[in-house]
Amino acid sequence: MNFFEYVNNELYCEKVPLKNIADEVGTPVFVYSRQTLERHLRVFSEPFSSVSHLVCYSMKACSNLAILKIFSRLGAGVDIVSGGELYRALSAGVEPSRIVYSGVGKRASEIDEALLAGILMFNVESEAELELLEIRARSLGIKARIALRVNPDVDPKTHPYISTGLQKNKFGIDTSRALDLYKQTLKMDWIEPIGIDCHIGSQLTELGPILEAVEKLVGILEQLRSDGIDIQYLDIGGGLGIPYDQEEPPMPSEYGAAVVERMRDLGVTLILEPGRVLVGNAGILLTQVLYLKKTKKKLFVIVDAAMNDLIRPSLYDAHHVVQKVTLRPSQSSPDKLITVDIVGPICESGDYLAKSRELGEVAFGDHLAVMSAGAYGFSMSSNYNSRPRAPEVLVDGENYYIIRERETYADLVRGERIPPHLQ
Ligand SMILES: *Cc1c(COP(=O)(O)O)cnc(C)c1O
Repeated sequence: MNFFEYVNNELYCEKVPLKNIADEVGTPVFVYSRQTLERHLRVFSEPFSSVSHLVCYSMKACSNLAILKIFSRLGAGVDIVSGGELYRALSAGVEPSRIVYSGVGKRASEIDEALLAGILMFNVESEAELELLEIRARSLGIKARIALRVNPDVDPKTHPYISTGLQKNKFGIDTSRALDLYKQTLKMDWIEPIGIDCHIGSQLTELGPILEAVEKLVGILEQLRSDGIDIQYLDIGGGLGIPYDQEEPPMPSEYGAAVVERMRDLGVTLILEPGRVLVGNAGILLTQVLYLKKTKKKLFVIVDAAMNDLIRPSLYDAHHVVQKVTLRPSQSSPDKLITVDIVGPICESGDYLAKSRELGEVAFGDHLAVMSAGAYGFSMSSNYNSRPRAPEVLVDGENYYIIRERETYADLVRGERIPPHLQ
């Protein structure tokens, strides 16, 4: 459930007409709803309330400081995947003791930063990383708390680019190898194994693979305990999907109940790393129609947002609902619908936001809302075609706040230099 709704033919975010934001801030612009963000975190966390747990928001989904603040005020931590994300999290005031660090390619400098910050634990993805971590921890004199990220080899049944728990993926450590590695950590003075971790993929719409992975983690946990290794944290990753179109992902309540049922008696703290499910449907991308272009085959609606702003359709063939911000009353009659491709200004045929969509009549200057753009929207945006990145706006009741300014042309060339001999 979210707080983007029509009132008298005008699309609102909470109490603010989106048209006002488009007029005042300009387009393209990302708009997030605070009420929706908070509701999603509450609804996600609630089913785990009967067990010790920590929600570590996977901040790569949407890493604006204001969003991090909203979640951390409610007690959430974060799952980071880079030194840059650690910097953002600390800047937003996230408690280091609520930060877990995932990713297959942690650099020595990033490991040092996380050790110095005193994060809760590193989710280690390889033997080589474990060895480097021991070296860095020793040199800083700071013990590294770790979980091994195991690759449970289950098929998450999602897009191949966002599947991460299959043996052919680069993530995690084979379950058979993980037990040996845990034993090796007992000989490492600066490594303290405290958890087991996995994350099998994103936009998961079935419970089966998730539970299968949990089952494998529990098996390892029991084995480790019988070997005298005290595991206190069970990190089952993120990945719960959201409805973009016709998908019917499990409700957080179903997901939570099934997981809690399996781990209730284990005496561990559960760590969850949701990303998309918290922010996906709490944000939209607002854009304006620049041109209509009719060809022999198609009607193109050319808008001022593009694949550099929202790459999901181009990259994953993802579906985003597109709605008119202002409906004309006549549009209630379905025969007025036209089939269009909604495309951006970028010089690639892959630059589209929606294909073969039925839309009410649109004209130059109309505003469109690309729905479900809160996750992997702004955070995956780029400056391709030298397009300044869009601003981000947070709606809070009757007010809205610019939480990231629109980039300027000067921002585009910041840090670039022409060598003197070419001047
Ligand atoms: C991306 C990621 C997540 C979050 O995935 P969602 O599908 O957005 O919930 C969680 N954990 C790890 C390790 C990730 O890489």
